[in-house]
Amino acid sequence: MHRIIESSDHGWWIISHEQKLWLPAGELPHGRAGNFDLAGQSALKIGEWEGEPVWLVRQIRRQDMGSVRQVIDQDVGLFQLAGRGVQLAEFYRSHKFCGYCGHTMHPSKTEWAMLCDNCRERYYPQIAPCIIVAIRNQDKILLAQHTRHRNGIYTVLAGFVEVGETLEQAVAREVMEESGVKVKNLRYVTSQPWPFPQSLMTAFMAEYDSGDIVIDPKELIDAGWYRYDDLPLLPPPGTVARRLIEDTVALCRSDFE
Ligand SMILES: [Zn+2]
Repeated sequence: MHRIIESSDHGWWIISHEQKLWLPAGELPHGRAGNFDLAGQSALKIGEWEGEPVWLVRQIRRQDMGSVRQVIDQDVGLFQLAGRGVQLAEFYRSHKFCGYCGHTMHPSKTEWAMLCDNCRERYYPQIAPCIIVAIRNQDKILLAQHTRHRNGIYTVLAGFVEVGETLEQAVAREVMEESGVKVKNLRYVTSQPWPFPQSLMTAFMAEYDSGDIVIDPKELIDAGWYRYDDLPLLPPPGTVARRLIEDTVALCRSDFE
């Protein structure tokens, strides 16, 4: 899967180091390897974008290293591949030694995996599933200000799935823990890989069942029911949270206008 890059190779270049990637002029480099001084580097092809290969080159630190967040503005499909690149780079970096026997490992030639030279254990990149859910109560939606982003934005509830838990159980538990509310009629909407650092967001819509809002102050600063035509500051377009809020607003409109 790895190959040595020649200066005539072309495509998109994910130059990743310690969870950052090279973003000259704030964008993902695109074009011939020779233009970016990449000839002779070992690279891994991790996908295609607009008919051109997407390459991962690891362990090079350059000026203008940035976060994969900055690629969201470029295009959501490219953001997804950049997220894959950074996550794979982190996977290889954090799996140099076997967790069972401590021996060195080497990358598989056939799949994204690390293999132990001694006990033959095989490791794959781990993905952490999380749930995100919009809760509707008649013409209102439950929105909350989270302690982890203090930017005035009100958004839907979210949290990680625990070991041995279904997505449905995770939604019920997270909503109860964070807001004290019980939900019903859960419906799956969409999913989005979210490389901060290695999540997969699964997005749902639900209806309010019962209970008064009681916030968990460790998770939330504030939460309340907001009428669909009188909403506070929302997360930016392009996020799955915003999509859930807009879908809920559309449902409210069709029932109340
Ligand atoms: Zn081992």
